[in-house]
Amino acid sequence: MNNPFESAQAQLREAESIANFETDKIARLMQPDRYTEVSIPVRMDDGTQKIFTGFRSQHNNARGPYKGGIRYHQQVNLDEIKALSFWMSFKNAVVNVPFGGGKGGIIVNPKELSEGELERLSRGYIQKMYRLFGPEFDVPAPDVNTNGQIMGWFLDEYEKLAATVAPATFTGKNIEDGGSEGRTEATGYGGGYIVREALAAEIIPAGKKTIAIQGFGNVATYLAESVAHLGFTIVALSDSKGGIYKVGGIDVAAAEKHKKATGALKGLAGTENISNEELLELDVAVLVPAALENVLTAENAERIKAHLILEMANGPTTPEADIVFHRKGIAVIPDILANSGGVCTSYFEWYQNMHNEKWSKEEVLKKLDEHMVKAFAEVAAKKNEHQTTYRNAAYIVAAARIIAAMT
Ligand code: NAD
Repeated sequence: MNNPFESAQAQLREAESIANFETDKIARLMQPDRYTEVSIPVRMDDGTQKIFTGFRSQHNNARGPYKGGIRYHQQVNLDEIKALSFWMSFKNAVVNVPFGGGKGGIIVNPKELSEGELERLSRGYIQKMYRLFGPEFDVPAPDVNTNGQIMGWFLDEYEKLAATVAPATFTGKNIEDGGSEGRTEATGYGGGYIVREALAAEIIPAGKKTIAIQGFGNVATYLAESVAHLGFTIVALSDSKGGIYKVGGIDVAAAEKHKKATGALKGLAGTENISNEELLELDVAVLVPAALENVLTAENAERIKAHLILEMANGPTTPEADIVFHRKGIAVIPDILANSGGVCTSYFEWYQNMHNEKWSKEEVLKKLDEHMVKAFAEVAAKKNEHQTTYRNAAYIVAAARIIAAMT
């Protein structure tokens, strides 16, 4: 299995080999500024105590507070958290919001905890970590298996311990706790805006508007809605239990209903069951990994037939697969650009909290669209200037901004 932190470092090294950056600054960006590991004792419902391990990696804050989500997953590990914090620094710089990069996580399968245990675990994480957080120092957000409710517990515990009122310390909050309109849709819609720009730039052949999406969570659902408006046919979707395929296009609302009723996408009437591996290899215009890391690898890269890969998940492509895609002429819009709509809207939430403002959903989505269009144009221009990949171009745009701030 690829180590995601080594993949992240390899990506920056590749960009550095094209642009002439100061080597001292690049060396600093290769490692996080700081990472912290804590043990969190939690009283379980049956009276026993369980100890959980939590992490926070603060990669770089030259452009603003460390910023990035906290994930709850049984496979969380320090290298993954370091990689995700690294990507956040570059993502925030590409989409040009005034944040650095951070990421956190707890090793836990939250589906095995009761609501009370989950609350005590979340508050326990803040009890150990709160000195690291603050609206002008480090601003966490939801990630895999965390949500507005958990941000609410984090904020409540933080405000008690830090003796302050500071809703801007966490983003991705529920609306009633100071969350922003449009945040739920933002990552998926942001990806949709990029697909629209890719169509205009003729990266996708005009007559072929088919798309396969791996995943059917928050990001995949809103991306599907957004590309349907662009006239795309969604031929495949998947979840952890497998995928579904239909040449004429899947009815996404029916898929949602079926998943709610049965707990899986598989078996939706009128569709064919396929595996997650088969989904990735379909002959479509656009392939969207929107679930996990390391799904496009040296093993399957030669068999990928899409014209464009839109990385909505973080780190879905290994550096070895990237080389194959470049040789085959498959365009890859990297995660740090494609899924930056989420953190861009987190910035809008932070800004509204800091200025005691409340923006409408229309206002938020309009600003999001402008940021995504600008980021895509800047990366595309850099790609042409250096005759390189979108990933290298995105890293070059981002690294230049971070280095300017460090200098
Ligand atoms: P989510 O938890 O809502 O959905 C994840 C989806 O992936 C689910 O449909 C799940 O069934 C599926 N999945 C899990 N294991 C799988 C497997 N082995 N094979 C295929 N599918 C599997 O999460 P999300 O918020 O939609 O995030 C998806 C990805 O996008 C993650 O990589 C996340 O880091 C990234 N991302 C999310 C945001 C955001 O704002 N939510 C922002 C940036 C990046």
